[in-house]
Amino acid sequence: MSRRRLSLRARLLTLQLVVFGSFLLLASPVTYFIMSRTLEDDRDEYLTSMARHVSKEYLAKDENVPPSPSLPARCLCDPVPPSSTDPEAMHWPRHLLLCDESGEVLCSDGETAALAPQAVQQALQTNLPAFADVRWPAEFLRIIAWPFQDPNGRVLVMEVGCSYRVIEGALRKGFILMAVIDAAALLFLITGSYLLTRNAFVPIDQIVRRVEQIDEDRLEERLPMESRDDEAGRLVAVINRMLERLERAFEAQSRFSSDVAHEIRSPLTALRGMMEVTLRKERSTEEYRNVMQENLEEVLRLARLAEDLMSLAKADAGVLQIRRVRVKLREALQAVLARFKLKADEKNIELRLHAPEEVAVIGDPDLLGRLVENLVDNALIHSPQMGAVLVQLQRNEDHVTISVDDHGTGIPPQHLSKIFDRFYRVDPARSREMGGSGLGLAIAQQIARQHGGSIRVQSTVGKGSVFLVTIPVARPPEPRMETG
Ligand code: ADP
Repeated sequence: MSRRRLSLRARLLTLQLVVFGSFLLLASPVTYFIMSRTLEDDRDEYLTSMARHVSKEYLAKDENVPPSPSLPARCLCDPVPPSSTDPEAMHWPRHLLLCDESGEVLCSDGETAALAPQAVQQALQTNLPAFADVRWPAEFLRIIAWPFQDPNGRVLVMEVGCSYRVIEGALRKGFILMAVIDAAALLFLITGSYLLTRNAFVPIDQIVRRVEQIDEDRLEERLPMESRDDEAGRLVAVINRMLERLERAFEAQSRFSSDVAHEIRSPLTALRGMMEVTLRKERSTEEYRNVMQENLEEVLRLARLAEDLMSLAKADAGVLQIRRVRVKLREALQAVLARFKLKADEKNIELRLHAPEEVAVIGDPDLLGRLVENLVDNALIHSPQMGAVLVQLQRNEDHVTISVDDHGTGIPPQHLSKIFDRFYRVDPARSREMGGSGLGLAIAQQIARQHGGSIRVQSTVGKGSVFLVTIPVARPPEPRMETG
């Protein structure tokens, strides 16, 4: 069973809430903990300074402290009575008691024994202050046992206690404050995240709605908002560029289909016409032979067209299998030129090859031969009687250039960028007359590309054209390392 995914908007909102919510929920206990530790440290510091102060006061007294524990601690500062609720008084010691090494109480606020005997014992043993928590009588006290010596060298311990209430009060207030802040922050976060996420997706929703309305009949439409300087603007720009490419591809597709139909219809009409006229009356064998000969030419033209279309379609679909063998180009060019010798001689054209060195490429010999054939054929067609066509082979570092140079009609500049398009002809009537399908250069370009190369043209009307094909050269085999 497939699980339904949450929308991007819902996921973003949830993510924001989880991340920031967890941060808030984690930050509050940590803050509370740090606050309580700080308050406790402050209280212990306060207790310590209080114990030191009271002990000093005791030592500063002239008369000896009466040994009776029942005496009120008049020798010391007055402790705050436990019943007091005065907030100021909360900061004063709740309990004061002085005892000697044997544990005998020298003076106190009424207690007859130390409230934290273990802390007193520890202070006596280590001669360092010791702390303890004691329940007394209706509240908790923090006790410090402060060891010190009187002028006679007696070791005494001053026990000072203060209430927990100050800390408890501060912590309670802090807790309430934090809970209120957390709740407000959470509310703010939920509303803020919701509004932010909703607003962020408004342009996306608009784009989706507009794109949904664009079908193949409305490919000329473009989305607004392209001028926005944000992600939505960039998305719209990308979609608009894609629509432009789609529109061009659709146009090319429909133009190509009508071109194909047109190219097939012309020879078929010619064939039909010739047959109908021939069949109207009885003909001599000679006449039939002539008609058959003409028909054969049209059929061959159709077959060539079908073959060209097939190879272009296969290459487009990426299913054209091309061989990858080492092709010696000078040899291949010599063979092509030999095939065109007769055609060149018919127009008294000097067809020459200039190839100072042999260069090898990796590729399909038949396809490479076809590429050069298309160029040489065009050069001969567009050259005048007694003209000259020069085919050159030149190696430049890692690539090789084959150029086919003629001194023919040349190509007007406005056509130069289009002559590699399928069925594009500078002079359609003349091209058809010469038997051209308008696919020769498109096929040549495709073959060059299949071999990792390219083709370009330079031409001047009335002076001639040069077609330049560039293909990477085959790397020589790596020299083998001799071992042993
Ligand atoms: P075609 O079958 O018509 O020759 P191509 O694709 O081979 O088709 O060529 C496309 C057009 O480019 C031709 O119709 C022609 O007008 C022009 N062209 C190609 N080669 C030459 C050339 N060497 N000189 C002048 N024009 C040329």
